[in-house]
Amino acid sequence: MPSSRVRCLVLNSALGPLDYRVPHGMTVEPGSIVVAPLGPRQLLAVVWEADRLPAEEVSDNRLRNLLGVMDAPPIPAPLRRLIEWTSDYYLAAPAAVLRMALASTSALEGSKTTTEYRPTGVLPDRMTPQREQALERIGERQGLIRELAAAADVSDGVIRGLVKTGAIEAVEVDLDSPFPVPRADFAPPDLSGDQQRVSDELRAAVDAHKFQPFLLDGVTGSGKTEVYFEAVAEAIAAGRQTLVLLPEIALTEPFLKRFAARFGCEPIAWHSGMRQSQRRRAWRAIATGEARVTVGARSALFLPYPDLGLIVVDEAHETSFKQEEGVHYHARDVAVMRGLFEQCPVVLASATPAIETRHQVDLGRYRELKLPGRYGVAQLPAIEAIDLIETPPERGRWIAPKLVKAIEETLERKEQVLLFLNRRGYAPLTLCRHCGHRFQCPNCTAWMVEHRLLNRLACHHCGHNMPTPKACPECHEEDMLVACGPGVERIADEAAMLWPDARIAIVTSDTLWSPAKAAEFVHRMEAGDIDIVVGTQLVTKGYHFPELTLVGVIDADLGLEGGDLRASEKTFQQIMQVAGRAGRGEKPGTVLIQTHSPRAPVLQALVKGDADSFYAAETEARQDADAPPFGRYAAIIVSSEDKETAEAIARRIGRTAPEVEGMMVFGPAPAPLAMLRGRHRFRLLVHARRTLDVQDVIRDWLGGLEWPSKVRVAVDIDPYSF
Ligand code: ADP
Ligand code: ZN
Repeated sequence: MPSSRVRCLVLNSALGPLDYRVPHGMTVEPGSIVVAPLGPRQLLAVVWEADRLPAEEVSDNRLRNLLGVMDAPPIPAPLRRLIEWTSDYYLAAPAAVLRMALASTSALEGSKTTTEYRPTGVLPDRMTPQREQALERIGERQGLIRELAAAADVSDGVIRGLVKTGAIEAVEVDLDSPFPVPRADFAPPDLSGDQQRVSDELRAAVDAHKFQPFLLDGVTGSGKTEVYFEAVAEAIAAGRQTLVLLPEIALTEPFLKRFAARFGCEPIAWHSGMRQSQRRRAWRAIATGEARVTVGARSALFLPYPDLGLIVVDEAHETSFKQEEGVHYHARDVAVMRGLFEQCPVVLASATPAIETRHQVDLGRYRELKLPGRYGVAQLPAIEAIDLIETPPERGRWIAPKLVKAIEETLERKEQVLLFLNRRGYAPLTLCRHCGHRFQCPNCTAWMVEHRLLNRLACHHCGHNMPTPKACPECHEEDMLVACGPGVERIADEAAMLWPDARIAIVTSDTLWSPAKAAEFVHRMEAGDIDIVVGTQLVTKGYHFPELTLVGVIDADLGLEGGDLRASEKTFQQIMQVAGRAGRGEKPGTVLIQTHSPRAPVLQALVKGDADSFYAAETEARQDADAPPFGRYAAIIVSSEDKETAEAIARRIGRTAPEVEGMMVFGPAPAPLAMLRGRHRFRLLVHARRTLDVQDVIRDWLGGLEWPSKVRVAVDIDPYSF
């Protein structure tokens, strides 16, 4: 029944749903994407309710007409419910959540064709080493000139040259052309007994069309991916859609390849590195249901899949699933809610599940599926601690003798080494030996980090950067600046000095900033073109390199500094994950962990490989502190360019805190990053009993207050640090 009056959620509006009239001749239904007038503007909106609207509020003759209906499938009801839930739970404007579903208006407008380039197979008349490299690395790829250049690691000019010779040609791409369809039975694996048992259960859950959260808990290399692929196969065979969430865009490319090997073609990718045209095409394929399997970063969670049959969150413990800007949400938790609204299973896969997730298993809400051993002959690596107090590195160095020796032996065997340090750049702090001046970011409470490869100092929070000066800006003495502490570049330098013939790669978000760069790294590792990788947490995830047999952790104490209640858990996860990169093939792996406190419980647990008692002790500590997953927190962050104003408003919020049984308010105090991007930040931390509807309390509390528009007040429910 077409109705004459509808309630719409308008994009880019801080207001709640608004009522409009449907003009004669226009048909809409709940979920329809429409164009609505708002003041002088015309905005995209979604019809939220189309019938049984209360007749009061706005009298009909004051209603404005909708202006048009977009040529796109409607936003399905389960997603509309998810948007409402997310907005309620995380105290975010519904329109801000809706924006994630619509991705960008260009998904709905935009051109329907684009020009891409691909090799023709014809060799150029004149072959140069660069051209050869380009053609080899591009392979079957197709894309923009700039993308092909990045994939081949040559300049745009080389690609343009190849276009002139006819070795690469332009093709007009129809953006509505169909995607290839993955085949459930393309290359199924032979599963081990454990894998088969878990896979059977997941397949049955997909067939049941019911909500069921799973924790797929298996050590690194146990075949979790292989096993959840079986559930994906089941969903494909049933003609339903699957969403796989990955924590890191750098993992996309290896995933696409692995998926293609199992299902005959790549799935649809969704991440921030996509072009508008790709985004538009993918969004449409997802919304029409054409996209069978989508793999993406957390933003893929809010897309309008009309028929989700399975959601997988891979590396579900990863903190990057928590979004800390705009709508503050945790993609792992929202994924479970989406599964509930869609009535489909949700698989959280991890070798090091979060305490929160394990707790859900203990409560009987999530079902745990275990893969206890590595697949095939691969064994878990031997883990050993190196006591930096007893056996320190030589002066001015960071790699202790024992690790040096192990690296040497590994290189002699022609195997690969991974050195892990979770710090980008050359050194985290630069200071003047003469006057003590330290380089600090003008916009953030953070040191400027030296990047020697770029010859710049950079802030890792706001991106502010400058050329590394020769003289101290304070005392003007020259050549007095010293780098304090190591970053990955410095470790790479040390390795290069010790092993001049070794081929060393630095892997951080500075070097692996695109899926193409990540693919190139994987390619070089697999081809054996790299001997030593020095990397940040980016290399701890998901990679599978059979020749990598030694992992050295440069500084295990890094994450344990500071009073964060999650410090031990995070350190445990990070080191278990990086250790999981060692010995994944037939050759056994070794992990050496450099630390000043080898007797700390977390290090003892790592060395003994005793995850269970570590989790038990951590859980008990959380319970004693009434911290999550027992008690809960919410953070209220007040920020402004003007420090006094921010502080004054934060104090006012603190003063007006309601007295509620089971709730306590701490602060305001300077936030963990007291200044960020030029804004001063104060934080109030709300601690509440689990059963308390803390969102409701905060909504009422903040709803009764006003503040100047230059002040921003953000609420972070279940904040990551507390
Ligand atoms: P995880 O996701 O648990 O770290 P993976 O699924 O990546 O483990 O599996 C580790 C390695 O073992 C991969 O190279 C994978 O292809 C291989 N593998 C796991 N199970 C099987 C199987 N049943 N048949 C063949 N190879 C397998
Ligand atoms: Zn900064």
